[in-house]
Amino acid sequence: MSKKIELFFISSEVSPFSKTGGLADVSYALPKELQKQGINVSIFTPKYAVIDDNKYNLQDVPNSEFQIQIGEKLLEGKLKSLQIEENLKVYFVVNDHYYGRSGLYVDPVSNSDYSDNMERFIFFSRGILEAAKKINLKPHIIHCNDWQTGLIPVYLKTLYSEDPFYNKTKSIYTIHNLAYQGIFDKGEYYKIGLSWEFFSIDGFEFYDRINFMKAGIIFADKITTVSEKYAEEICSSVDYGYGLEGVLKNRKSDLYGILNGVDYTNWSPSRDKYIPKKYNSRDLTKKILNKKELLKRFNLPFDENIPTIGIISRLADQKGFDLIEAAADELMQMPLQLVVLGVGEQKFQNFLERLEAQYPEKVGIYIGFSEELAHLIEAGSDMFLMPSRYEPCGLNQLYSLKYGTVPIVRATGGLDDSIVQFNRDEQSGTGFKFYEYNRDALLNAVKLALEIFKDKTLWKKLMINGMKQDFSWRNSAKKYVKLYKNLIK
Ligand code: ADP
Repeated sequence: MSKKIELFFISSEVSPFSKTGGLADVSYALPKELQKQGINVSIFTPKYAVIDDNKYNLQDVPNSEFQIQIGEKLLEGKLKSLQIEENLKVYFVVNDHYYGRSGLYVDPVSNSDYSDNMERFIFFSRGILEAAKKINLKPHIIHCNDWQTGLIPVYLKTLYSEDPFYNKTKSIYTIHNLAYQGIFDKGEYYKIGLSWEFFSIDGFEFYDRINFMKAGIIFADKITTVSEKYAEEICSSVDYGYGLEGVLKNRKSDLYGILNGVDYTNWSPSRDKYIPKKYNSRDLTKKILNKKELLKRFNLPFDENIPTIGIISRLADQKGFDLIEAAADELMQMPLQLVVLGVGEQKFQNFLERLEAQYPEKVGIYIGFSEELAHLIEAGSDMFLMPSRYEPCGLNQLYSLKYGTVPIVRATGGLDDSIVQFNRDEQSGTGFKFYEYNRDALLNAVKLALEIFKDKTLWKKLMINGMKQDFSWRNSAKKYVKLYKNLIK
């Protein structure tokens, strides 16, 4: 029998330990499925202050202490760990100075990025490579995710290329969101620990600044992103590529789109531990009870015939709040209610709060992060709105399908790949899509959804079409396994 693949899965957030968005969900659910499919997986993630050692009973990892030189500073770290399954372990990189703070990347008080984010993720990347040597855990493949890990493929091909411990190790770099690239001033380049030779157009350099994501894309053995459509989009134009479209086009033959999956043990209405009433596609009456509870929480009146539209989202440009704002007056004339859970940019928060103040009977807003409320919104809403400007994969539309909460989405990235337009005559499809990024297109999609909603039989059919979809990780994880096997052949 061939030896098992040893995989490091590196991520700056892993649910349930730390989370700001979809990356966290993926970074737990995918390794869990990979492990089922016969891979030995070690997840590495920072030990942030929000992660309670006692709650999770984290174990010290003997002999894992390491030192990293960042510029003038010599810094120390170590690992803690948690065994999840026999072949799945999470390693937490410990350094209280860098990670013992209340936010993951952003200072919640000033609402701006930590000024030493570059150092924090240099330390993380090199720390993993050093600590793994210390504990003699040797990976065949290191699977990196997003800009925070972009240095690892570079280090493997530079500082560690002659190191017998790593000289056969391959890297995969997954892009979850190209808009966040890890761009830093070149005055800080010395901290990376590489010669200036690598600060070039074929390396870190990006308009005279340092770009971690660019370096990751250039140095990784293979690159993936989280839907086929997004893989095409990011090579095609600056609107999606954010300046890296040329770099990506150069590596197109090594770029794969693999749609994210759903962990249905966590996101399915028949097993959901957060919602008041569990339900399934054979008994949809209980969904109404969740709707009642949801509206009560938001102080909104309940009416079975008025659809509730849910939104759960980072409040960021990407997510289409400017479109909602442009369409708001007209939307508010329609027979609907809007429930929004989100946290992020102040300007969107202000807009939502204004809307709620103006239409208290129709709009409910919760500014903050709440896992429990996210589940209740999925279960209690009739429709789910994602008018994203771009969307690498998107998870909430996938969750919504399983909850019989019909998605209304802009046809971009993973939203386009996962939602099929409802066809009234054939009663096929799973949601409503619009293509142009403008208010009229959004309004037309909502109007059509409201129209279909009036026909209870048709609406039920649409809900059930969605609930029957299977976006479990099994198929997508198989694609990653194939990629790993090809890489180390
Ligand atoms: P992104 O990763 O761009 O934020 P995704 O749709 O891929 O978007 O994933 C978002 C994830 O984060 C989902 O699991 C969603 O439920 C969750 N989420 C986003 N905002 C909040 C919030 N304010 N409270 C709770 N969960 C949230």
